[in-house]
Amino acid sequence: MAVARFWRENASRYNLIGTKCGVCERVYFPPRSVCPTCHRQSIGKMEPFKLNGEGEVLTFSIVHDAPSQLEMQKPYVIAIVQMEEGVRITGQIIDVELDEVKVGMKVRTTLRKVSDDGAAGVIHYGYKFMPL
Ligand SMILES: [Zn+2]
Repeated sequence: MAVARFWRENASRYNLIGTKCGVCERVYFPPRSVCPTCHRQSIGKMEPFKLNGEGEVLTFSIVHDAPSQLEMQKPYVIAIVQMEEGVRITGQIIDVELDEVKVGMKVRTTLRKVSDDGAAGVIHYGYKFMPL
């Protein structure tokens, strides 16, 4: 991924900045430049919108077979979280016992190290969820 694109997308990820359609008021995350509901009507009316970071677990699964960079963390929980603003975000739930994760559980986002690209010295951060 090009460096410029990486940083632009990361600014949005760090701050949970999505977009809100000025026509129908739906919120999107990651940001969109056109509302998929309003199409052309929404062009030029999409405004940056910061999510408050709180939501509840819609569904989740426990991952036992992790990609190598997550080997140390497995098993871990991946959930789809319904944010208060209506968008759904998929992410890892941390700081919780596996058997404590429930549908409807209140969570909030937290910024954590996602991966560590050792050779290049690049550390990637992103949002994860923790219990409220
Ligand atoms: Zn719209």
